[in-house]
Amino acid sequence: MKCMIRTLALLATGAITFAQQNPSWIRPFPPHRIAGNVYYVGTEDLACFLLTTPEGHILINTGLAGSELLINASIRQLGFRPEDVKILLTMQAHFDHVAAMKEMQQVSGAKVYATEADASVLEDGGRSDPYFSRYRFAAVKVDRRLKDGDLVRLGGTQLTVILTPGHTKGSVTYSTTVVDGGQKRSMVFANMGTVVMPLVGNAKYPQIAEDFARAFERQKRLSPDIWVAAHASQYGMAEKLRAGSFVDPQGYQAAVERHAAMFRERLEKESKR
Ligand SMILES: [Zn+2]
Repeated sequence: MKCMIRTLALLATGAITFAQQNPSWIRPFPPHRIAGNVYYVGTEDLACFLLTTPEGHILINTGLAGSELLINASIRQLGFRPEDVKILLTMQAHFDHVAAMKEMQQVSGAKVYATEADASVLEDGGRSDPYFSRYRFAAVKVDRRLKDGDLVRLGGTQLTVILTPGHTKGSVTYSTTVVDGGQKRSMVFANMGTVVMPLVGNAKYPQIAEDFARAFERQKRLSPDIWVAAHASQYGMAEKLRAGSFVDPQGYQAAVERHAAMFRERLEKESKR
């Protein structure tokens, strides 16, 4: 039944073809601790992160419509309550990361925080998405609009907002410090800059190339001990879980450089046309 509900929800949003092409987007995955108070509660590939605190929790990303069933089950399996989520965040306002925002908000009564540039997309359910406007989702009211350098604070946990636009106009990376096994570790939730829209002559997003270039420069300046991304495959989640450690400073720099190189290559190709 749950599967059927999920399929119907996906059909309604038009996201079914994506889910069919990417079965890992809706396949369940065991929830697990990444480090300190940061846990993985996403599907096999659509990463969702729970940051637990004594004053309630922060949830980053919510996956596709219907994913709330898996997210809530994962939160409970870890011994926490979805009702205790106080703040909902996203790394990018594409349907595959925000379509269950509304449901999660209804379960918890959490406040939705989003960057200024992505807030409008969340509030119109994807209608103003310059690329994926066919893939609609339940709109949510954004309670707080985040600017670069803003701090998101809850129960002793603090995230710094680092705007890294390009993939969407309001894509964002968050940095924090976690205490893991008595040791302080720097950690980032990095929205990796994959190019999905034209970089040259993009009337819906004229400054896209400049945004990407700046975002990569900003990400290169960070040097986290631990890093994660919006797609589990982007940070090798399953391999790291098997290896028993998410500490990977070199892997972060390499991933940013790989994405920056793909961007430069694409820009060069488009510029020659
Ligand atoms: Zn995306």
